[in-house]
Amino acid sequence: MIKVLSKDTIDKIAAGEVIERPASVVKELVENSIDAGAESITVEIKNGGIDLIRVTDNGSGINCEEVRTAFLRHATGKITNAEDLNSISSLGFRGEALSSIAAVTRTEIITKTRDNVTAIRYCIDGGMELSYEEIGAPDGTTIIARNLFYNVPARKKFLKTPATEGAHVAELIEKLSLSNPEISFRFISNGQTRLFTSGNGSLKDIVYQIYGRDITGALVDISYNSDKMSIAGVVGKPEVCRPNRNFENYYINGRYIRSSIISKAIEDAYEERLMQHQFPFAVLIMRTNPECMDVNVHPTKMDVRFSKPYEIYDEINKAIKAALNESTLIPRADLSDAGTTYDIIGDRKNESENSDAKSDSAPVTTFVRPAEPFETRKDNAVPVKVEQLSFSESSITHDNAPSFRLIGQVFATYWLIEYDNKLYIVDQHAAHEKIYYERLLKQLKANEITSQILNPPVIITLTDTEAEIVKDNLETFRKSGYEIDHFGGNEYAIRAIPSNLPSIEKAELFNEMVTEFAAGGGRKDVESILSRTATMACKAAIKGGQNISFMEADILLKELLRCDNPYCCPHGRPTMIEFTKQDLEKKFKRIV
Ligand code: ADP
Ligand code: MG
Repeated sequence: MIKVLSKDTIDKIAAGEVIERPASVVKELVENSIDAGAESITVEIKNGGIDLIRVTDNGSGINCEEVRTAFLRHATGKITNAEDLNSISSLGFRGEALSSIAAVTRTEIITKTRDNVTAIRYCIDGGMELSYEEIGAPDGTTIIARNLFYNVPARKKFLKTPATEGAHVAELIEKLSLSNPEISFRFISNGQTRLFTSGNGSLKDIVYQIYGRDITGALVDISYNSDKMSIAGVVGKPEVCRPNRNFENYYINGRYIRSSIISKAIEDAYEERLMQHQFPFAVLIMRTNPECMDVNVHPTKMDVRFSKPYEIYDEINKAIKAALNESTLIPRADLSDAGTTYDIIGDRKNESENSDAKSDSAPVTTFVRPAEPFETRKDNAVPVKVEQLSFSESSITHDNAPSFRLIGQVFATYWLIEYDNKLYIVDQHAAHEKIYYERLLKQLKANEITSQILNPPVIITLTDTEAEIVKDNLETFRKSGYEIDHFGGNEYAIRAIPSNLPSIEKAELFNEMVTEFAAGGGRKDVESILSRTATMACKAAIKGGQNISFMEADILLKELLRCDNPYCCPHGRPTMIEFTKQDLEKKFKRIV
């Protein structure tokens, strides 16, 4: 027999899509507070949010006549018709959250608008109205959700431990506070304040609160505007990268989202600066015309569809690349990283200061820092520009030898250099690779670009996605010196590759490049194809770890300093690191 389900059943089914765990309830409630224009939001949880979630805001409040309506399925004050879906500027719009939350918790709301004289207190248990009364309360809204899934045991079983659920909530609050520096967030778990942000509008203050000093001291500012989008925020210098994507935070039109295209655009911008399987730190707040994206993909609104994904990729990639290129990026060696624990009685101040930063491997969860003002490291060295290091006043010639002192080689690999009160350690292998890479890239470009024929052609088999990339970029590959023909099915024949490449596994190089491109999708330009070609070619061609003479090292260093970007090798490893005299003096306790 076919019958229409009861309202109660429909609500519980729908709640299953929106509400998965305590963090989903918190997400919906905090987003409502943001949409209501709140300047301060307090989130309190008990037992990981399973027993209690309380969200208090000082936003617009709900008019007394509309409180009941707000809890009806598909009741929203944010859109009126389907056309409005094209230009959503609020975080919510589906009108499902309050009804879903009320269906699976014991819910209480206290809300007051500026214009209403009294507040309304309304209680609903599992979707059933219990009470509705006028009470006295300040402007704004408090929603309390108790005993999540108390009436849906099948779902309650799937909740993790309170500690894990609490960590999910903490992580969510971090993401929400990062994207709203002008809102003051307070997060309390089991009676303890875990995060407090002042709402003073400074993104770096919040990064400091959440991620600590090491990351805050290694940020590059991003500020980009075009007719297509605006991007503001910070990205980490390569030395604070991570082995996973947990530290990639990005927001479009106020919404925290996940997107493989955006992740790839960020990661590709680091190109040669990050090693494989390393991912950057980023907090990017982006705005684009709401019509260019569809956020109505999934009830949790975490996934979005872009009408022109390639365009989004290009804009983000360009913005970050430019910012990274502008900042010189010699990693500064932090002597405290060595983990030395000298026990000097009566003076542990320095050691405890150094160990204060959040540990790299710690999960991104509940860290409280005193609400002290953000301070950059006072001892942060201004990175030495290449001109400073290599050439005296603007006569850039070979004879005009730079004034660095070459001290010697250690471990058959590293060269020590003293210059201007700093000690540099240069990795000869990475340095050589970099020189080779830039030379090769220049040759490839300067030859405007010639090919070498492979006879017989090399046949390669591609996956569907890889074949798609090759098809999409066939013309650009051709302009870069590759000749590729469709050979049938997913097989392609490589008939020519750019000239000047050393003798390496040619098909392997092309395959590796296409696999990498396929991960990010999108159109490539000649520049990026040549640059990947050169990166891979020099990886195969160069050997390291030899004893070289002082004279060879001297030439190597001068050559390196002539590179466009001498500070990292084509695969992202640093070519040199820097210690200041001050670093050493601190370590020897000559200065504090
Ligand atoms: P949506 O956010 O998709 O509109 P919800 O079910 O989350 O749907 O909320 C329904 C409506 O209740 C919202 O459109 C808004 O008008 C009102 N509302 C919910 N929470 C708040 C709040 N904290 N402050 C003011 N109004 C709120
Ligand atoms: Mg909502």
